[in-house]
Amino acid sequence: MRSDEKKPKIVIVNSPHANWDYERRELEELAELKVVRCSSHDELLSEARDAEILMVGDIAHIPLTKDILGKLPKLRLISVYGRGVDTIDLKAATEFGIIVANTPEYGVEDVADHTIALLLSLLRRIPMLDRELRRVGWHELRSDINAVREQFGAFRRISSMTVGLIGFGRIGRAVARRLRPFGCKIIAYDPYVPEEKFKEISVEKVGLQELLSQSDVISIHVILTRETYHLLDEKAFKFMKDGVFIVNTSRGAVIDEKALIKALRNGKVQGAALDVFEKEPLPADSPLLKMQNVILTPHIGWYSEEAMEEQKREAVLNVKAFLAGKEPPYAVNVRG
Ligand code: NAD
Repeated sequence: MRSDEKKPKIVIVNSPHANWDYERRELEELAELKVVRCSSHDELLSEARDAEILMVGDIAHIPLTKDILGKLPKLRLISVYGRGVDTIDLKAATEFGIIVANTPEYGVEDVADHTIALLLSLLRRIPMLDRELRRVGWHELRSDINAVREQFGAFRRISSMTVGLIGFGRIGRAVARRLRPFGCKIIAYDPYVPEEKFKEISVEKVGLQELLSQSDVISIHVILTRETYHLLDEKAFKFMKDGVFIVNTSRGAVIDEKALIKALRNGKVQGAALDVFEKEPLPADSPLLKMQNVILTPHIGWYSEEAMEEQKREAVLNVKAFLAGKEPPYAVNVRG
């Protein structure tokens, strides 16, 4: 770039990160960088009217609708910190010639770790035992193993179980790789992934009904689409083994939460470990909060310091590619 040439303007809006040293280091020579927090569309328009690039974090309350995009005439790239692009009208962006890119790779390892942690905690009843030990004391809890079985259900060895993965994308496969050394049988359902990917990690590819009827533990890793919305509904629970365990770190609405609660109450589902919910934040009156056979975490599977760094790296990579006249590596639409 010639020194008299005006640098393109990047506006970072509502970054999820505590600092932007990395962005400055990587981008300041190439572009003019401005960091803002906006709580209204008016604020956004006044801060970013002349931006060529937006890097956006939490904009759920100020979605980039067609109307707003139409008022950002210079905008050519939106680089999202995160996977979700549901806060952007993609069709309108494409029409206006704006590329939208996200950060799909970050946090894969972390969600897979979180899934395994939830699964083991559930099978070994770790949070339940911890709570009860503190509440009633060692002697009361441990003097009679039959009473433990009565209260928490029979424990089974993971190597004797079948774990069924619904969705065999990045996270599903990372979970399968972590499960391998435990010696359990692993089956998975994902009609969009070729057979070789299953064979690579010795996972058996099965149909949905087969998975539901054979699994002792079902762990969900699909993206939420019209097709996967309430994939596990009342009818699906009927196909499952009595006393099945459910782990969900994908998206809450893949399970019909009412049907799950019913199945947890009548014992069809012995226990569930959930990081995601149909409604987030989880409402304070959710029956799940009172159920002792449920482990809850607040949609935090993705989080680690390493994942935060990865997210920045991917978001910046999209911007650098764009500034170099190339297609951003994680573009989710094509220019109209
Ligand atoms: P991915 O796109 O790599 O994999 C998703 C898989 O779902 C794909 O292989 C796809 O073929 C499959 N799929 C789509 N429709 C299907 C259907 N009808 N039946 C069966 N399979 C179907 O995504 P990923 O990175 O592995 O993410 C998986 C899930 O984890 C997503 O729902 C994502 O939103 C969620 N996630 C959660 C957290 C968290 O913090 N808990 C963080 C990141 C991602």
